[in-house]
Amino acid sequence: MVETMTQLDLLLSQRSLNDEQLQAAAEKAADYRILPDANVIKIGGQSVMDRGRAAVYPLVDEIVEARKQHKLLIGTGAGTRARHLYSIASELNLPAGILSQLGDAVADQNAAMLGQLLAKHGISAVSAAGLSSVPLFLAEVNAVVFSGMPPYSLWMRPSREGVIPPYRTDAGCFLVSEQFGCKSMIYVKDENGLYTANPKTSKDATFIPKISVDEMKARGLHDSILEFPVLDLLKAARHIHEVQVINGLVPGNLTRALAGEHVGTIITAS
Ligand code: ADP
Ligand code: MG
Repeated sequence: MVETMTQLDLLLSQRSLNDEQLQAAAEKAADYRILPDANVIKIGGQSVMDRGRAAVYPLVDEIVEARKQHKLLIGTGAGTRARHLYSIASELNLPAGILSQLGDAVADQNAAMLGQLLAKHGISAVSAAGLSSVPLFLAEVNAVVFSGMPPYSLWMRPSREGVIPPYRTDAGCFLVSEQFGCKSMIYVKDENGLYTANPKTSKDATFIPKISVDEMKARGLHDSILEFPVLDLLKAARHIHEVQVINGLVPGNLTRALAGEHVGTIITAS
């Protein structure tokens, strides 16, 4: 180990930070998971929060029960209000960084609402998942709510085409689960998982219980149930090697997924 570090020190002083040998030396340190017992769940914006009470209340009950056994980092999506803002702002020709700030605000609103519903159970919403209070909340009450939009804000990396921010709340929640080295990443949406086509518009779409990132791309499904950059983030990840997308409108699904059951579509890195 000492030898490795010396070699790394030497490389760091002499090479570009992207140098292959330098990268390999830096890679030698053992992986460390910061919150290995925590599960990240993303509560969809359009797919769940926007449906209001009928969708949200049962999930709140399920979360309150589930946190007795599981540690939960609960991220929120943005949804229809964000889409409305994106449509106005893009027509005004505003850039991705500005649209990202507008999207932030909507994910924040959903986190604020979910936080208030969970407040009487001692579960708080924090203003950023990266804040150092997160481990304390998890240790004390097993759960915390955060706003799912990654805080790239004005510095959002633009897409090649269009001004819609490519890294939105699916990506934000994924990155939290990966950076913290969490146990699982579960997307709670309004369909049973991935289908061969959008089930809202294709009546003959069939369900796909398990699929890899490469297969999804090969079948032209890369821009479907998850924001497409998530697929590449998943492939590059060192801790999270699969995510599950589940139907949060079916009572019990979240609880079962947290218990490690396969209730939706599992998307694997390889
Ligand atoms: P969120 O609320 O988390 O942002 P989205 O609404 O962005 O979730 O994504 C879920 C939606 O993706 C589903 O409601 C469904 O209409 C749509 N969708 C598009 N293509 C597919 C597909 N091939 N399989 C399943 N859902 C799909
Ligand atoms: Mg979405």
